[in-house]
Amino acid sequence: MRVKCTVCGYSFDVQKRIPKDCPYCGRQNTLRRVKTAEEILREVDELTDQFITKD
Ligand SMILES: [Zn+2]
Repeated sequence: MRVKCTVCGYSFDVQKRIPKDCPYCGRQNTLRRVKTAEEILREVDELTDQFITKD
């Protein structure tokens, strides 16, 4: 998955866990998970389905 530092904006890929420290600016607890384009598209599809589906 991809993470991004909320302070310096540095983003990079991690395998399992989100690191505690940003490797670029060295601040702690600033890394947040970034959604991939694929994940965003999937969510949009699900939302679209909800709007279209009527019972
Ligand atoms: Zn940073």
